[in-house]
Amino acid sequence: MISAIAGINWGDEGKGRMVDLLSSDYDIVVRYQGGNNAGHTVINDLGKFVLNLMPSGILRENVVNVMGNGMVIDLKHLCGEMDKLIKAGVKVTTKNLKISDKAVICMPYNVLQDCLEEERLADKKFGSTRRGIAPIYGDKYLKKAIRMGELLDMELLKKRLEGIIEWKNLTIQKAYGAEAITMESILEYLTTYGKRLAPYVCDAGLYLNEAHKQGKNIMFEAQLGALRDIDFGIYPYTSSSSTIAAYAPIGAGIPNLKLDNSIGIMKAYSTCVGEGPFTSEYFDDDALFLRKNGCEYGAATGRPRRVGPFDVVASKYGIRIQGANEIALTKLDVLSGLDEIEVCVAYELDGKTINEFPFSSVLDRCKPIYKKVKGWKEDISSVKTAEDLPIEALNYIKFIEKETECKIKYVSVGASREQYIIL
Ligand code: GDP
Ligand code: MG
Repeated sequence: MISAIAGINWGDEGKGRMVDLLSSDYDIVVRYQGGNNAGHTVINDLGKFVLNLMPSGILRENVVNVMGNGMVIDLKHLCGEMDKLIKAGVKVTTKNLKISDKAVICMPYNVLQDCLEEERLADKKFGSTRRGIAPIYGDKYLKKAIRMGELLDMELLKKRLEGIIEWKNLTIQKAYGAEAITMESILEYLTTYGKRLAPYVCDAGLYLNEAHKQGKNIMFEAQLGALRDIDFGIYPYTSSSSTIAAYAPIGAGIPNLKLDNSIGIMKAYSTCVGEGPFTSEYFDDDALFLRKNGCEYGAATGRPRRVGPFDVVASKYGIRIQGANEIALTKLDVLSGLDEIEVCVAYELDGKTINEFPFSSVLDRCKPIYKKVKGWKEDISSVKTAEDLPIEALNYIKFIEKETECKIKYVSVGASREQYIIL
């Protein structure tokens, strides 16, 4: 069985917690895109973890975790993440962690470049996480990136680095006027962290193919939501990689294998970190209830998340491009306490009602059309079965199923592993 866990919305839907929950049926969890701009929160018996680079299967003893070729890896950050996990008693060894030799290294100068550019943009800034993600994906496609496998031959790496550093300084020093980066500092960085990580580097695609042949179950973990996908998201307010399930086999190293399942993780209301159009956004006091009840502050950055009602138009689009055949609706408990719950069921664009998610650049002109659904007051965070949910909560789920035309299989009602319902 090969399944993807993919985000339907803007990200922070609770992918990490669903991977942690559902990985009990899987042998391998693979991250297939993105870098340490992710923040996947997992809460279970072992404690609370915010994972940036590490696949969320790392907290299950029998799961092998793979960092795929579609990822960009900040070596220092990864070592720090490993240390934190080890300190918390989690095993991280070459047996349960494998890093693709084709994954790209996110370099300190990419982080610097990201910061320099956000500073240059000043009040026009993009809301980058400043972790070098856009610059390193840029380098990858310009064919100027260093890959994990190159850490295994430092002499060869040195030769390639010379040209790259000379080229990168054209930007860092000549364009931005910052201090030039030196071969010495980069080599020291790569040697220090590379030495530690080299034993984990392997041909991950080959490993996954063999595992698949032996009948192992493989789960792919997306880093961000559909609306942040580089091709299908709200461009240019996207991430720099492909977040969608169809890309997962490619970003994992097994493009020859097909997905059996695409499990879409969809939030019971909307949140968005960073800039860009967000049609069903609540402002000021309207936003307080969701932000406070949902603890909506970015896991990687601590930034307050923009919040609003569930958006049918955007979610239906997310479900389509994720090819989701199952949905996990998350954070339903956050809505407890409202008399009425608003849902954005359509957009108004230039005086017309639209139901399909439009081209990114017209989104700024779209206004939300809301419908009201009856709310509930009960705390549902310890509910274990659908029968024990208040009828209004069940009706809310059914309403969303009908509007999005997709079956909801799981509902989460709290951040801990066990706080969920199977419908
Ligand atoms: P991800 O990036 O998609 O993995 O999601 P994040 O971890 O960034 O954001 C989800 C946040 O919601 C985290 O703080 C989780 O601990 C929390 N969370 C996940 N599921 C639930 C839930 O069902 N109820 C509540 N109240 N919180 C949840
Ligand atoms: Mg997150």
